[in-house]
Amino acid sequence: MPDIIRTTGDLQALDSAHHVHSFTDPTVIAGGKTRVVVRGDGCQIWDGDGRRFLDGMAGLWCVNVGYGRQELVDAASRQMAELPFYSNHFQSTTPALTTLAHELSKLTPDGLDHFLFTSSGSEANDTIVRMVRYFWKLQGRPAKRTFISRTMAYHGSTLAAASLCGMPHMHAMDGGTLPEFTHIPHPHWYLHGGDMAKEEFGLQAARALEQKILELGPENVAAFIGEPVQGAGGVIDPPSTYWPEIQRICRKYDVLLVADEVICGFGRTGEWFGAQAYGITPDVMSMAKGLSSGYQPIAAVAMNARVFETIGGGGLLAHGYTYSGHPVACAVALANIGIIAREGLVDRVRDDIGPYLHRALAKFEQHPVVGEVRGIGTLAALQLVKDKTSREIFSVEDGAGIFCREAAYDQGLIVRAVGQSIVLSPSLVITHAEIEELVDKLGKALDTTARHFGL
Ligand code: PMP
Repeated sequence: MPDIIRTTGDLQALDSAHHVHSFTDPTVIAGGKTRVVVRGDGCQIWDGDGRRFLDGMAGLWCVNVGYGRQELVDAASRQMAELPFYSNHFQSTTPALTTLAHELSKLTPDGLDHFLFTSSGSEANDTIVRMVRYFWKLQGRPAKRTFISRTMAYHGSTLAAASLCGMPHMHAMDGGTLPEFTHIPHPHWYLHGGDMAKEEFGLQAARALEQKILELGPENVAAFIGEPVQGAGGVIDPPSTYWPEIQRICRKYDVLLVADEVICGFGRTGEWFGAQAYGITPDVMSMAKGLSSGYQPIAAVAMNARVFETIGGGGLLAHGYTYSGHPVACAVALANIGIIAREGLVDRVRDDIGPYLHRALAKFEQHPVVGEVRGIGTLAALQLVKDKTSREIFSVEDGAGIFCREAAYDQGLIVRAVGQSIVLSPSLVITHAEIEELVDKLGKALDTTARHFGL
């Protein structure tokens, strides 16, 4: 029988003894500072000491329908009772899996009607690397292997997904990227646009892709991958000119266009998928997080007919995971999509809560420590700056982002610091009153930050 551990203090001690955390400095855990989260409801979470927090991040950008949805619990429980597991290998399926693939085909951009399931966004992007290279091999162009991604991209932590990432610390950990992965600059107008108009900068940033394709030779380039809005890189929402130009360049050189919709999918941008918000039709897409609102680990790769039919001609597909299309995860994803559709959450983000959030945050543009407020839908970022006129940002050593994040935590608000930005991604069910609370608490954290840095 497992031990029953009740107190937060005991959990913290055991945690530092036995648990290797993700994306955490182990010395912080060794100091007994593990945060024990025990319960959630709507946009609120509670810690082991009964303290309530407003979760401005919806977990890790994923609890789109909010915590505490009994309907999702019931969907999991029904499926577990009926059939807790069966695999999709060797021509098998389950009703939940096939129904989910069918429902997704109604929501994804035109032509993306074929789905391969995984358990995480990292696995989905890793799968894409294999599938796209396989596609080109079967097309008789086996040299088309290189993936072009962007600096500050986040695509996951498996080997290939980490190589797709564009964050230096992801590469520094184990000695760089795998061969045949390369990066172009991210389209961050505020930091890199200088005097250029936003739309002009968008075109220039996209044309870095054309230069890179020509430098590598189009005959060697497999795909370009990008998040419609770069999430973990700091909620970098590109100028409206950017994605259409990227698509034009991909089509011109027959380079597959891959959208990583792991964060942007399922309503965050005010459309079902970020690709729809930016007016593009990718060849391949990855999705995760909002697919089940984080209630179950599930992700998927969507592909168009050209990719699907080509890999269909290659004989046995030597790829898959035990938990590809796990029936419990599929049942929960189906119920979750049902909630998003029934409650009109995608339209709510576009017409109500997205504009409300951005109107409320806009007042921080006047704050001495904030240079820019950016984002779309329920994705938002505040760029912290030392000097508003010169757009000088804080250094890593200054640590303004983490300072502000902790100040927000002290107020009972969960936000995330990405470099020197504070990012937000609340649930799609956040109320107007909760947005007021969020802005009030964030304002206090920004004031504390400005005072600390003498602004
Ligand atoms: N792609 C994007 C855009 C992400 O934000 C993430 C996770 N934050 C991933 C991929 C990786 O997903 P997972 O953590 O489920 O492996």
